[in-house]
Amino acid sequence: QGGLERHLYDVVVVGAGGAGLRAAIAAHDAGAKVAIVCKSLLGKAHTVMAEGGIAAAMGNLYAEDNWQVHFRDTMRGGKMLNNWRMAQLHAQEAPDRVLELEEWGALFDRTDDGLISQRDFGGHRYARLAHVGDRTGLEMIRTLQQRAVDLGIDVFMECTVTELFRDETGPRPRISGAFAYWRETGRFIVFESPTVVLATGGIGKSYQVTSNSWEYTGDGHALAMRAGASLINMEFVQFHPTGMVWPPSVKGILVTESVRGDGGVLKNSEGERFMFDYIPEFFKAETADTVEEAEGWYTDKKNHRRPPELLPRDEVARAINSEIKAGRGSPHGGVFLDIASRRDAEFIRRRLPSMYHQFRELADVDITAEPMEVGPTCHYVMGGVEVDADTEQSIVEGLYAAGEVAGGMHGSNRLGGNSLSDLLVFGRRAGHNAAYHSHRLGGARPTVSDSQVKAAAAAALAPFEIAQDPGRRGENPYTIQKDLQDVMQRLVGIIRTAEELEASLGEIARLKERATRLAVEGHRQYNPGWHLALDLANMLVVSECIAKAALERQESRGGHTRDDFPGPDPSWGARNLVLTLPGGDFTAPVHLRHQPLPVMPDDLKTLFDQ
Ligand code: FAD
Repeated sequence: QGGLERHLYDVVVVGAGGAGLRAAIAAHDAGAKVAIVCKSLLGKAHTVMAEGGIAAAMGNLYAEDNWQVHFRDTMRGGKMLNNWRMAQLHAQEAPDRVLELEEWGALFDRTDDGLISQRDFGGHRYARLAHVGDRTGLEMIRTLQQRAVDLGIDVFMECTVTELFRDETGPRPRISGAFAYWRETGRFIVFESPTVVLATGGIGKSYQVTSNSWEYTGDGHALAMRAGASLINMEFVQFHPTGMVWPPSVKGILVTESVRGDGGVLKNSEGERFMFDYIPEFFKAETADTVEEAEGWYTDKKNHRRPPELLPRDEVARAINSEIKAGRGSPHGGVFLDIASRRDAEFIRRRLPSMYHQFRELADVDITAEPMEVGPTCHYVMGGVEVDADTEQSIVEGLYAAGEVAGGMHGSNRLGGNSLSDLLVFGRRAGHNAAYHSHRLGGARPTVSDSQVKAAAAAALAPFEIAQDPGRRGENPYTIQKDLQDVMQRLVGIIRTAEELEASLGEIARLKERATRLAVEGHRQYNPGWHLALDLANMLVVSECIAKAALERQESRGGHTRDDFPGPDPSWGARNLVLTLPGGDFTAPVHLRHQPLPVMPDDLKTLFDQ
């Protein structure tokens, strides 16, 4: 272990997106010595790509808006499977978190009265998304990053965590640190810390068509499982209704929901505004069922119901899928999203500058003059680490999770804008509680043994060893990744059946077996094949969790649609599926069990009677 880099912290935050940065700031403010570790460059996290805005019931445009309405919208959007306490804290605290961002220097778009402007998004009763054009995530990251750097928080960037350490010498296992490698040099680094906050984002790279970047390989989900934590809601994957479909090189890139919030409508190849045919019973009372009423809503929201294009994402994605399947799709296998014929060019360029440039540069389409072609794209995972709603601690002492990697908050379907607010609310809570936990330990801190470090290093280096062993038939990481993406896209996509899910589990088990023989040539210095080999173990475990839970849940709800069980089933509406990895061994099958949902108190239940 000569020369191994070793650091001692009170709180190690894995991830530098909105959740990680907000957690690190909170932990620092609570007096902890904090490190942020991220596998890409600081500022490159997923959060930077967020476009539409941050959902918070500030009431700037509609005084009627308040946390109770936001809470109700969030629960209904998640088809009541959300952890009610998380949804409550989120709705109550989001406005303060937005104002705090503004205090720290974020420049939001303004109303005529100089208040923070708020825009419409699917499933939100009132215009509620604080935004900066269609580049809200960029402003959020810029502000948080600036603050974290100003506070002097240590940042380890281009540094990937591959293992969490646990101290098992006491009555209960406790987190004791993390093992990582520098992407550039391949050298190892050990963090000793009694708390780790996972803020690693999502899992989209398990699918072929996704709005997510290379970083989304489910690392945090898998690290948590391997350390003994549990995952919930993994069957619920959000397919955003509108991703680019053409040209092939950009397939999956997001087309923000703001296009529909600002007046864009969906049409099929026959020019029909088809969403009126897909209004579900659950949302009938609040959705316009004629073009006249829908049009009236844009100028007079009090006396008109919302256009069906602004139904929650799961509903719109399924509708688009059905139109394409029925042969009414666009030339490149999507449908049309038209704002050109509905708003003037100046409005479109001002409200949607990134979309204008994205289509101009990537598809040679002028969205002020012609419709876009769009189709569903894997966007977000509702499922994640099971945490305590108030503290964000998992079932493992010292291990916290916040942001997209955590489960519970969004139930079976997330409303647009509710992620950025989730990052701020629960990032802050996780950081604060981790610092407090660390402080309380005093001198009784857990430790990392040399044998644990040696084992983590050996596991990371295994792909090089296998490549050197003529007796073992090595597997190429890129081939396995491609095969996995194909399985997930084909068999665990928007519409699912028992037969396909069973087949997917068989395929994933075979891929897991092949992945025990991953082989990588070359050196440890900047070697993307090696990095992928290490990410793949995580992608495979997470994919197995999604497929296994999807097979078990015999109903359709939110981001989980079963062709063989087309409706929601009330008995399933009271249950979560919990996934664990016995012994932390990623080659073993994941374990699944049922768990009743926490019961909502009566005073909150009355909000749904109105
Ligand atoms: P991220 O911002 O993705 O950060 C993850 C961090 O973890 C990164 O720093 C990464 O390097 C690090 N990491 C991962 N694995 C490791 C590892 N093993 N070791 C070290 N570091 C690691 N939501 C909204 O609410 N409103 C929107 O308008 C909106 N628009 C979106 C637009 C796009 C195109 C996309 C893709 C998403 C959008 N979302 C939006 C969703 C939202 O952006 C994400 O859910 C959110 O940013 C996730 O934040 P996070 O902090 O959890 O993770």
